[in-house]
Amino acid sequence: MADLARLALSVVVPIYNEEANIGALHQRLTDVLTALDLPGRYELLFINDGSYDESLALLRVLAARDAHVRYFDLSRNFGHQIAVSAGLDQAEGDAVVIIDADLQDPPELIIELYAKLRAGYEVVYARRRSRQNENVAKRLTAKAFYRLLVSITHVAIPVDTGDFRIISRRVVLALRQMPEQHKFLRGQIAWLGFRQTFVEYDRAGRQGGTTGYTYRKMVRLALDGITSFSDAPLKAATMLGFAVSGIAFLLMMYTLYGRLVRHDYQPGWASLMMSILFLGGVQLIAVGIIGEYIARLSANVRQRPLYFIAEASPPPAG
Ligand code: UDP
Ligand code: MG
Repeated sequence: MADLARLALSVVVPIYNEEANIGALHQRLTDVLTALDLPGRYELLFINDGSYDESLALLRVLAARDAHVRYFDLSRNFGHQIAVSAGLDQAEGDAVVIIDADLQDPPELIIELYAKLRAGYEVVYARRRSRQNENVAKRLTAKAFYRLLVSITHVAIPVDTGDFRIISRRVVLALRQMPEQHKFLRGQIAWLGFRQTFVEYDRAGRQGGTTGYTYRKMVRLALDGITSFSDAPLKAATMLGFAVSGIAFLLMMYTLYGRLVRHDYQPGWASLMMSILFLGGVQLIAVGIIGEYIARLSANVRQRPLYFIAEASPPPAG
């Protein structure tokens, strides 16, 4: 009785305009989870992140047809990280898989992820050995970002790894205790520690539909990752300030020397303009960096709920 009620595995899927993928995704997940022959029930948790296509309608139909399916409809588009967080808040399984809806993360890999978790790990993430059908700009910026992040933070955030992973209930409960507003889940999970390992896979292109990650959203995610896990930019701003002040001081000495001792000075419009522009630029950069941190500070001080749920799947009959 108790064993039947137990949920072995939850699969959390954020959905943003994925009408082209939901059917195939559900089919492949179901095949994999049936083959896994779990020691308890599983659930598929779909979080609709303010899609404006037919995704929600498809989820309603799925939930009515398949008792494993639950869905939650957020009140608007809150972004991928928050949609996943909402899923983690609802997940009841002993283990939780986070997976993209567009089939870029192969559901079949869950078998390997689950096996490793059972072997005694709390986190098993899926690392991208290669990426296909993604444009060069995206591949290069992603590669550069992961490496920059690793070089300026003390947290061992794995490179070339998205959110596709399996985590134990213990890790889920720990994440629920981290109330930060600007989520960077892969960083938070790395920060948590516990026994972690990875499996490698080749990342396919999107099955259908188009990416919901605009460059704007990618930049925001990158800034959240950096500001949440590193103070290096603030320190760099300070160092730059010192360096520029040092140079400015030397130039001042030189100017005074020319003016007072050698009585040999130029009208100097060019050098004046240059130093004004340069100093202005450096100051704006430093102020901007500080602003990025302060903006996140104030968001966390406000303590708003991270998201609101507009609709949830009805509880299963019986
Ligand atoms: N997604 C979301 N909210 C958004 C953008 C994306 O929930 O605002 C979901 C999307 O449906 C998918 C996952 O996040 O399941 C990854 O998004 P996408 O495939 O568009 O990103 P990419 O693979 O291009 O980085
Ligand atoms: Mg994708």
